[in-house]
Amino acid sequence: MYRSTSDKAVSTRDMAQTAVTRRDEEQSRLLRMIDEMPIAVMTVDPVTFAINYVNETSKTLIRSIEHLLPIKAEELLGTSIDVFHRHPEHQRRILANPANLPHNARINLGPEVLDLKVSAITASDGTYLGPMLTWAIVTKAVQAESRIHQLAHFDVLTGLANRITFSKQLEARLSEGADVSLLLIDLDGFKLVNDTRGHPVGDQLLKVVAERLNIAFDGAETLVSRLGGDEFTVLIPHARLAEVQRLAVRVLSALSMPYAIGDEGLLHLGASIGIVQAPLHGSTSKMLMRRADIALYAAKAAGKGVYKLFSDNMEARIEERHQLLADLGVSLAAGTELFVYYQPIVDVPTKKVTAREALIRWNHPQRGWVSPGVFIPIAEQSGLIDRIGAFVLSTACVDAAGWADKARVAVNVSATQLGKGTIKGAVVAALSASGLAPDRLEIEVTETAIVDDEHRSLSELHELRDMGVRIALDDFGTGYSSLTHLRAFPFDKIKIDGSFVRDAVSSPECAAVVRAVADLGKRLGVTTVAEGVETEEHFRCVVEEGCMEVQGYHFGKPAPNA
Ligand code: C2E
Ligand code: CA
Ligand code: CA
Repeated sequence: MYRSTSDKAVSTRDMAQTAVTRRDEEQSRLLRMIDEMPIAVMTVDPVTFAINYVNETSKTLIRSIEHLLPIKAEELLGTSIDVFHRHPEHQRRILANPANLPHNARINLGPEVLDLKVSAITASDGTYLGPMLTWAIVTKAVQAESRIHQLAHFDVLTGLANRITFSKQLEARLSEGADVSLLLIDLDGFKLVNDTRGHPVGDQLLKVVAERLNIAFDGAETLVSRLGGDEFTVLIPHARLAEVQRLAVRVLSALSMPYAIGDEGLLHLGASIGIVQAPLHGSTSKMLMRRADIALYAAKAAGKGVYKLFSDNMEARIEERHQLLADLGVSLAAGTELFVYYQPIVDVPTKKVTAREALIRWNHPQRGWVSPGVFIPIAEQSGLIDRIGAFVLSTACVDAAGWADKARVAVNVSATQLGKGTIKGAVVAALSASGLAPDRLEIEVTETAIVDDEHRSLSELHELRDMGVRIALDDFGTGYSSLTHLRAFPFDKIKIDGSFVRDAVSSPECAAVVRAVADLGKRLGVTTVAEGVETEEHFRCVVEEGCMEVQGYHFGKPAPNA
């Protein structure tokens, strides 16, 4: 088939026509596509700034925020873009010049946040046809973002800065070489409240502590953070010691005011504070935190409710503790420097020895005799107490098995030895190795053992008691001295602390407490023992108040097994 020339001419015209139609078609297809795109698009006249194109998604989005705008979605075409902006001049300057584009912006419209991307539409010859805005409502994403930021940088419970924020700020100041003071705060008695009143009460308490700290430092250039648990820090951007000490006193008095939480009545709590300063006490956050911890520890050891500024000799004392602990481990392994001494416990009417308390003794190769009052607390903090406890238990049972008078042996068990599921095994092993009858073994625990992790420790004590082992409550009068603890467990014996016994002679209040405990013991069928009876006068006094048994230098000092 062939074509004539005229045919060809017609065909060229047709082709041009077709091309135009196709371009139109393509353009309208493109517009339809943009119209239906899930992205909101608008175009704006670069001279009048009137909106000259709006896609469907834009209209839908605008409809959802119409109440915040002076116009309706249907009226957008022809309206000035200024309606979206608080500072239209600034926006106009950006939109007028393609050199400013692309441009990203965030617009706050009442509670909503709009995310805007402006790009330039240009003709094929490069002429600027105007800006095209693609935009979205990103309120939810922004909220999620800020929530994530909040979670990452602030403590959820109290709203205070968290450990991360605190560390960052501390690092930042240290890297500038700036002066810093740091208060490390730990609540006194928080664990007890948390354990006895329940975690919701503990949480409420921590919130109130946070509020009080915020009030104490209101307006000051400080960062108050919660590191976790009941530990808080205050970062102070200077090293003026007198001022820092004043702030510490303010914290102590704010935190020692009674707390009214729900219907718990008034709760009493306090705080201890360790203080360090940079650059004086260190130039790295690690060193400062370690030393703040040491100072805090010193504050706790000084009787709580006080602040302590770090000093070098505190560090020396810590080193000494480490050394002592290492030496104790060596002595325990050697088996030649640790001994068990016994002190008689005497029945008042018959003057007979009913039991002997096993008390550990350590003859340190260089230091000589070290008091258990010094090394037992160190052992308790390290876990070495379990091995020491097992050593005393097995030695005491073997020794007692050989006693002609068949007196019982009383062995001290630290609170930290309980609640681990290991004490029963240690007791069974000591009894079976020695052949001692279970009812000749008495375990002495303090109130801390009942308060700490209440149920697990209590159930372990119940297990021991079910085996026939007797359980005594030691040092009554020094700790919480709560009569509820006496009812929480069927103790076989209550030992009234020596300090109380000695004061009973001169102080009517102490005498009244000794009497109250002795009376309660009689009512509950529990033996009461007065500890630390040093003189005939002490003895007469405690007998008068009703104690059934006595222990103290007046009747015999701790001595090696006879
Ligand atoms: P504790 O259980 O209250 O032991 C009684 C302490 O009072 C003993 O001190 C004893 O020597 C002392 N003492 C006895 N009579 C008198 C007196 O008339 N006047 C005075 N001022 N003190 C008297 P010790 O042996 O130095 O033990 C101190 C603490 O160390 C004990 O207090 C106990 O808590 C702990 N401890 C001792 N041995 C062990 C042990 O084997 N295991 C554990 N976990 N703790 C132990
Ligand atoms: Ca004891
Ligand atoms: Ca005691």
